[in-house]
Amino acid sequence: MSMRPKVLIANRGEIAIRVMRACRELNMRTVAVYSDADAQARHVWFADEAVRLGPPPTAESYLRGDKVIEAALQTGAQFIHPGYGFLSENAEFRRACDAAGLTFVGPGAHAMEQMGIKTLARQVMVKAGVPVVPGSLEPLRDVAEAVEIANEIGFPVMLKAAAGGGGRGIRLVHDAADLPAAFEGAVREAVAYFKDPTVYIEKAIIRPRHVEIQVMADRYGNAVHLFDRECSVQRRNQKIIEESPAAHLSDKTRLAMGQVAVQAAKAVNYESAGTIEFLVDPQEHFYFMEMNTRLQVEHPVTELVTGTDLVVEQLRIAQGLPLSWTQEQIAQRGHAIECRIYAEDVARGFLPSPGPLHVYRPPTGPGLRIDDGFCEGDVISNHYDSMIAKLSAWAPTREHAIARMQSALDLFEISGISHNIAHLQQVLGCAEFAVGPYDTGVVKTLPPLEALPEDPELAALYAAVLAHRHGSKAQPALPASTESAWAYHARAQGLRNR
Ligand code: ADP
Ligand code: ADP
Ligand code: MG
Repeated sequence: MSMRPKVLIANRGEIAIRVMRACRELNMRTVAVYSDADAQARHVWFADEAVRLGPPPTAESYLRGDKVIEAALQTGAQFIHPGYGFLSENAEFRRACDAAGLTFVGPGAHAMEQMGIKTLARQVMVKAGVPVVPGSLEPLRDVAEAVEIANEIGFPVMLKAAAGGGGRGIRLVHDAADLPAAFEGAVREAVAYFKDPTVYIEKAIIRPRHVEIQVMADRYGNAVHLFDRECSVQRRNQKIIEESPAAHLSDKTRLAMGQVAVQAAKAVNYESAGTIEFLVDPQEHFYFMEMNTRLQVEHPVTELVTGTDLVVEQLRIAQGLPLSWTQEQIAQRGHAIECRIYAEDVARGFLPSPGPLHVYRPPTGPGLRIDDGFCEGDVISNHYDSMIAKLSAWAPTREHAIARMQSALDLFEISGISHNIAHLQQVLGCAEFAVGPYDTGVVKTLPPLEALPEDPELAALYAAVLAHRHGSKAQPALPASTESAWAYHARAQGLRNR
């Protein structure tokens, strides 16, 4: 039997592959798990071994902690990396791993519990001297209590699911008259998504920015931060573009937030990678919003500007090694931006639009990074998150990073499904984002995207080029001098309106 340690990755898609890359670099063996929808998926193909969990629904596959543990024991894996989503913030699962003698790559169960329920986290943070968004520290009993607290802190307010995540279970309320319906809606959504009706109330910060701090801690009490990420570009309260460092944030505030984040992590004896999310108001007052006790979707931008590998560090820490860096050794260099490419219909309220990836060709080039989990011909399943890929660009300056991202998005070829590339380009090209400052309202300021008028000649040309690339023998008849098929492709994606 080989002595190389073995890691089971309890996730799918891009994050499963991201974690497996780190395992391979550390000479660790990898075990994938999969549902029937993913039997041919790239993460299964990428791993050394793979174990079936069950039918496609997450409740019967990726959320079945018992089956995941069984798979680890059966394959002789010593470690379980949960990725994000699914079981990553599930303290009960962490305890079950401990009981089975498996090392969960992440924080201890107690830290997960304290930070996992937002009301509890707010209490813990207040005790640790961390500024939190004004509002209730206890779950709301009923609408009457919501009205009472709202009148105290003043409208507008946010109703939020205590167990929330992924932007779900959040309601903005401007007026007392709207509170009862909003309360009912928030509870309903909380039950539907998180099986937990608990909601609480926060003051809605006006024109807020979402700025978060990456932290990393070992089991010996060492903790550092890896600076900030700005995640204010959101639709439906979920991030779509993230950057590091946050633009237009003073270094004074950035450093103060870093220190507070380390303080927050230490308050719960945190281990591994975690993120403290803050809201920042226009005067740069900042307030703790929540802690995500896991690797974050947007961790690549931090890796790009700090020159670190957060997953490698997680795996080292899980093996009992001390932190690789002191705070003084961590610095930000240049600027990085990440775009989340989603299978969604922007015009229909960002409705997820799963389906087949007939054409899928991500761009490459200097300063670009792709995190993805699909190949051309794969199907984006309606059972799971509709994110297709993450495209990140690094450059010495923010201006250059934006230009690099815009150029790369132009060259990103996806067809077969609706996607949000044109929308991402619209954000990158708008003055509020490009020049700034911008806040979480930036997406709502943009005019609705309009389909470009179809040019039949060019559409035929483009179709011919694609057919040729997909094996058709017929050479596309390229006109002597006109827009190239590529320029057309970019335009067909609704780009180049800048
Ligand atoms: P991040 O917090 O890493 O920036 P998201 O909020 O988009 O990114 O969440 C990443 C993924 O994890 C999404 O698929 C989201 O639905 C899922 N997720 C996040 N929090 C929870 C939660 N509390 N319960 C279930 N799924 C969650
Ligand atoms: P999730 O767990 O779903 O990520 P968060 O508590 O992190 O939920 O909030 C998600 C987003 O909702 C924030 O990034 C922000 O845009 C918005 N938001 C949440 N709370 C407030 C608030 N009190 N005031 C203004 N915006 C808020
Ligand atoms: Mg959040």
